[in-house]
Amino acid sequence: MKEILKQKIHNAIYAHKDEIFALANSIASEPELGFKEFKTAQKVADIFAKHNIDYTANHAITGIKGKLKGKSSNRTIAVLGELDAIVCHDHPLADMTTGAAHACGHNAQIAAMVACAIGLKESGVINELDGDVAPFAVPAEEYVELEYRNRLRKQGKLKYFGGKAELIRTGAFDDVDMAMMMHVSMSGETKRLIDIGGTSNGFVGKLVKFIGKEAHAAGAPHEGINALNAALIALTAVNAQRETFKDEDYVRFHPIITKGGDLVNVVPAEIRMESYVRAKTVIAMLDANEKVNRALKGGAMAIGAEVEITDLPGFLPLVNNDKMTDVFEANAIKILGENSTVHLGHNSGSTDMGDLSHIMPIIHPWMGGVTGTVHTRDFKVSDPEMAYLISAECMAMTIVDLLYDDANQTEQILENYRPTMTKEQYLAFMESIK
Ligand SMILES: [Zn+2]
Ligand SMILES: [Zn+2]
Repeated sequence: MKEILKQKIHNAIYAHKDEIFALANSIASEPELGFKEFKTAQKVADIFAKHNIDYTANHAITGIKGKLKGKSSNRTIAVLGELDAIVCHDHPLADMTTGAAHACGHNAQIAAMVACAIGLKESGVINELDGDVAPFAVPAEEYVELEYRNRLRKQGKLKYFGGKAELIRTGAFDDVDMAMMMHVSMSGETKRLIDIGGTSNGFVGKLVKFIGKEAHAAGAPHEGINALNAALIALTAVNAQRETFKDEDYVRFHPIITKGGDLVNVVPAEIRMESYVRAKTVIAMLDANEKVNRALKGGAMAIGAEVEITDLPGFLPLVNNDKMTDVFEANAIKILGENSTVHLGHNSGSTDMGDLSHIMPIIHPWMGGVTGTVHTRDFKVSDPEMAYLISAECMAMTIVDLLYDDANQTEQILENYRPTMTKEQYLAFMESIK
């Protein structure tokens, strides 16, 4: 019986193939950065409306949360797709003005999430399941434009810079028991392979301002305080700390200078930097952050400049749920055959799915079917059937298994799951970063 339901979903997804491909292409052609994804969100709302999928809008500014009701509904599984692009000016589909481009493949996530929703809805299979599904387009996974988001924060429009943190804070996940999403392969896996399981880094966000004193750069540098020199010494001081970071903690510090001075003939009086301090565990993250802050202060002190450091709650390390991973893997193998899955170890990148993984069971598989590494001009979806349709199918079939027969697999997973943090503990942790 379950197999018949899965076949119906497959048929429904493939019957809407053109529409799903068109959605993915349309989103790729109008990329928008996080918390600004208004057009992209509208596209999701329109396609939900067309397929009679109920939804609510404006979750954490742009989120669109659908609701598919099962025949009984004690549990809800969310299927997420991220709305935002990154900045990659040289990407062929980059927005000419903003430089935004879907070089992280989030348009594929939206396509797969929508295809999964269409598959469950148009096949009628959702009516046979003992639980609800929330297909959810979520904002701002990329933790970027820190100064812009800090302004929104000061205006009270948001509190945290990651979309999922904002959604947790505002209660959008309060009725969700577990969640899943796909991401395209980070390394440009062209084959029909899926990386599953594993962990990834968390991080603290950071805004840094070195304040010196302007003076004529050639005529009277002795009257100035060179904030750029303070920043350079600070970065060297961080580099001198690196040998104290343990290999197994995967610490990463990768700052950019967003303001390097005003005019070439004036001693730089203000330098601004953005960075993350990443690590595999919360303890390692906080330890490395303290060392980085010490080094930043050291650079300022050496030159007689001031430094203002704003630590911002970032993302938490990601942990995939083993039992959900098993269910997903069994379906992936059924669709793609043996040897189509690769079990991951640790990844030093970060995702705000990590935050969610601290409060509920989640999976975050990485799907092949793309060329070029993410965040580069070379990235593109080379196998749309894999990236959009097969991804959707793997997720939808996993949902069938989880919600079939009184949702007993879901109940078992939840029974054995101990969240690392409750929502309240999570919010208290986020508030402790400052
Ligand atoms: Zn990315
Ligand atoms: Zn991404």
